[in-house]
Order: sequence, then structure tokens, then C-alpha cells
Amino acid sequence: MSQASAKKHFAPIPSFQQKLEEENLHVQRGKLKIFQINMGKLCNQACSHCHVEAGPKRKEIMEKGTVTRIVELLSKAPEVETVDITGGAPELNPHFRYLVREARRLGKAVLVRCNLTVLLEAGQEDTISFFKEQQVQVISSLPCYSKKNVNQQRGNSVFEKSIQALQELNRQGFGVEGSGLTLNLVYNPGGAFLPPDQKSLELQYKQRLKEDWNIEFNQLFTITNMVIKRFTKFLQQTGKLTEYKQLLFENFNPAAASQVMCTELISLSWDGDLFDCDFNQALDLPLAAKSTNIWKIKDLSELSKNIAFANHCYGCTAGAGSSCGGALE
Ligand code: SF4
Ligand code: SF4
Repeated sequence: MSQASAKKHFAPIPSFQQKLEEENLHVQRGKLKIFQINMGKLCNQACSHCHVEAGPKRKEIMEKGTVTRIVELLSKAPEVETVDITGGAPELNPHFRYLVREARRLGKAVLVRCNLTVLLEAGQEDTISFFKEQQVQVISSLPCYSKKNVNQQRGNSVFEKSIQALQELNRQGFGVEGSGLTLNLVYNPGGAFLPPDQKSLELQYKQRLKEDWNIEFNQLFTITNMVIKRFTKFLQQTGKLTEYKQLLFENFNPAAASQVMCTELISLSWDGDLFDCDFNQALDLPLAAKSTNIWKIKDLSELSKNIAFANHCYGCTAGAGSSCGGALE
């Protein structure tokens, strides 16, 4: 057998829980600061890495009754500082603006994960003005500053449309120094490798986006690709699944492990079920090993402190660590 065709062999990877025990780490949920709400799988894009497998044909979206119940729970949860709204493209949900207004009325910071291209869809002409009126923090994925890489990962013309949307966000003050309006960007690797250093990449992004497109933004968050859903399929198709899992395991970082985002976050699905994070939600891995939804609880403080860890969690603890708010270190 030639060396090039020889397959690499790796020792079995211990379960994530076992690894935490070996490292003497007791990771539990502490104070619940972030309530992350997934408003559904409807999206105007269908990206190759999407861990919720969202797309234009998906029908699963959050109903008004669910939103009303969320607002009720939030009104009894002073510990929750931030409402983090995601999807799909949450802006396409007819109850999106009601949720944002109510969360702001309750004094919560509201963060919207906006895919940018949705802002150019029919019916979304005033969405940026709405964000501005409600002082929403916008967080948007732009996996590269080069057209080729973005279009490869997110679909044809996504780069051009994203640039147009970013310029409009800037025009209305988002990401512009001194405006008080936040625009953060998200990078995730275009393949089976770990993200580079967040701060250095942020500098590169700032320079290139300013020079090429006159675009400004506040912070860049680097996020590691998780071994779930569409990215797992990509790894299988390219024969890199085992190697990538090994890469995540070999780069296990105990400091990142003690700060994983599920220690301060709860994630809610479009139909009202609660999970430790968006990834567990995508895998349908229930909270504290049993299903819990927003109608079964009186308030958010009664949720278990235990976290349902599994081997995809190695994605959160590799290298500098990864969360919906970027690197952990
Ligand atoms: S824009 Fe976001 S939610 Fe929509 S398909 Fe792409 S990754 Fe998924
Ligand atoms: S995947 Fe979810 S449960 Fe696992 S460590 Fe990351 S945030 Fe926590």
C-alpha cells in the first residue's frame, strides 16, 4: 500500500463526559443570563454547513401562543440579561417584531442573528429601521471576506447581497464607531479545520472590508464547525470525519471547557421545547436527559443545572473554545 493511500488510525476518543471527569472539571449551568430563541427553520438561504438544516421550503415556525408564553416567562426572569433570537431567518416569522418589542419592554438586551441577505427580501425594507428603533444588536455570518469562499459555503450571490446589506446597516449607523448601534460578524471555517486566532482575524476582516467595500463593524466572532447535521455529511463526503473528530479531541482546552456557553444559556426550539444549546436542539438531545417545554415549567429558574453533554461538545472546547459569542478565551 502506498503511503498516500494509507489510512491514519487513531485511538478511540473518550466520551466528552469521561474527558471532563479525567480533567477533574465539574461543569454545570450557573446563573441563566442568555435565553436563546430559535423562531423556526424557515430561511431564505440553505447553507451547506447549516446545523439546523434551515431553508426556504421549511414549514416549522414559532406560533404566536409560544411567543406569548416566552414573554410571560421572561417577565419573571430578571436574571436573564439577553434574548438571543435565531432561526432560520427569524425576521421571516410574522411574530418576530412582537417578540423583540416585548423583550425590549422588559429591559432585556436583544440580539438578532441576521443572515444579511434576508434584509433584501420583499417585505423587509424597514427591518433595519426597526432594529434601530429597538436598539437591537445585529450579529451576522460572513464566513470570509472573499466572494469565492462565501458563495461556496452559503450559495450563489450571497456575498454580493451580504455586502449590500452590510453597507445599508452601516448607512443607518450599525457598526459605526460612536453610534451605539452594534454590528458583529461571525466567521466559521470553510472546511475541516479550527478557526484562526479571533483577534488577528478580526483585524484582517476590518482592513479588507474597509478597503474593498468601505464596511465597518464592531467585533468578529470565530465559531468552530460542530460535528452535527450538514457539516457531518460534508465530513463524510470528503472522508474527513474521523480526522476532524480527532483534531477537536486533541485540541481539548480545559479552560474553554469550564466556560462553555451552556453554563449561562438555555435554548428554545420553535415549538417550545427547551435545550442546553442550539446544537443539542439540532440533535434533539433533551435538557437534563428528559424533555422539558415552556408550558411544563412555572419559571426558568426551576430548570436543571445539569447539562446533557455528548461527543459533539468537543467542538466547543477545542483550541480557543467556541460559542455563539465567539472564542471563549
Ligand atoms: S442563513 Fe443561517 S439559518 Fe439560514 S441556512 Fe444559512 S446557516 Fe442556516
Ligand atoms: S455543544 Fe452545547 S451542551 Fe455541548 S458544550 Fe457546547 S454548548 Fe454545551
